[in-house]
Amino acid sequence: MVRSRRMMASNQTGYVCPRDGSDLVPPSASQRSAYHRNGMHHCETCSGMLLNANAAASSLCSKKLQEMHEGFVEEGTPDDIDCPFCDSQMKVRSFAFQRLDGSLTDPIEIDGCPSCSSFWLDADELHRLSPPSNGGKDAKVEANALAVVLEILLQLPVVFV
Ligand SMILES: [Zn+2]
Ligand SMILES: [Zn+2]
Repeated sequence: MVRSRRMMASNQTGYVCPRDGSDLVPPSASQRSAYHRNGMHHCETCSGMLLNANAAASSLCSKKLQEMHEGFVEEGTPDDIDCPFCDSQMKVRSFAFQRLDGSLTDPIEIDGCPSCSSFWLDADELHRLSPPSNGGKDAKVEANALAVVLEILLQLPVVFV
């Protein structure tokens, strides 16, 4: 399915899902504070998450995302999606979160923009760490669940693997 992504951008942010072209829900339009603190836009069609360091209200999260961004400037494999913020071709890398006991979670893939500090996380990737609470039937409900999971994970050190 080929749609003009820019033509789809009709909501107040103008950012659209890089996977399905749906309008992304901006952090400010969500009732959940997890979105606001971490600068998460989300897609109500596929439950994907778009993070951006500059959009994060939490300075801790903003700092974490800036650190992660450095891992995408020189490294990573070019992916077939463009950054919703700046249209650069995104890169994909595998990374894991380090638990308090020092062990690592299963690796998941994240798309990062080499130009700006944006990241895209597919719901499927987060499901590897946290299975869908509702069988994945309601993308809106699932996105809310994943935002909470992601907020907890972002407290942990991130390791590129
Ligand atoms: Zn989507
Ligand atoms: Zn970008």
